[in-house]
Amino acid sequence: LVVLKNVNKHFGALHVLQDIDLTIARGEVVVVIGPSGSGKSTLCRAINRLETIDSGDISIDGKPLPQEGKELARLRADVGMVFQSFNLFAHKTVLENVTLGQTKVRKTGKAEAEEKARRLLDRVGVAAQADKYPAQLSGGQQQRVAIARALAMDPKVMLFDEPTSALDPEMINEVLEVMQQLARDGMTMIVVTHEMGFARSAANRVVFMADGRIVEEAVPDQFFSNPRSDRAKDFLSKIL
Ligand code: ATP
Ligand code: MG
Repeated sequence: LVVLKNVNKHFGALHVLQDIDLTIARGEVVVVIGPSGSGKSTLCRAINRLETIDSGDISIDGKPLPQEGKELARLRADVGMVFQSFNLFAHKTVLENVTLGQTKVRKTGKAEAEEKARRLLDRVGVAAQADKYPAQLSGGQQQRVAIARALAMDPKVMLFDEPTSALDPEMINEVLEVMQQLARDGMTMIVVTHEMGFARSAANRVVFMADGRIVEEAVPDQFFSNPRSDRAKDFLSKIL
């Protein structure tokens, strides 16, 4: 579903993505881990074209990423993204946050968009907050609204870039549980996270990055119990 071929990206002299080859099948959950600065966020951002790449190819559903205009807006809808910071529209209510993209990009009617928004807010456990503004919600609630907002676009794939790292500990699980459920429901997901419990239980595959390269890929059991590379061993010894 998502295919990256020989992708390279520089920031000035820094080679942040080096010959990245990665294929993610429909329904697959891939957890990306690696030290700070290894290029994980840049990889996610390249997939929905928040960053351009210098060379290589990225395609979704067999189609190369569009460059601009309406096609790009549709790509961003097809590739749902949830960031570390909550990124909700502060001056819109929760319900409006989840209906806006539907009416603007997907051209869904208002009533239908609201009905779907309420259903999704219920699914992520924040239905009671529909008429509040983001600032009136906890971080965990805001992040679940962000997930509902992305889901409202019927994305083909969801990207999560450290969705729980800005949360207080007691709110982390409520967000991870929503993500677990999404994974069980068959959503294709790319998840950058330091939550190794999530990686073990939800991931089909772990991708370990260091210095802009994919150093190792394995099923979680194998990766955690028997990492092959010294970089991965060293990384795991620091975080586990
Ligand atoms: P973290 O775990 O800290 O989030 P990461 O793996 O997500 O790290 P990236 O954010 O992808 O890493 O950054 C990779 C490298 O690219 C880092 O050295 C970073 O400083 C650099 N970088 C990222 N964005 C830019 C930018 N817009 N301009 C210049 N350098 C950048
Ligand atoms: Mg990052």
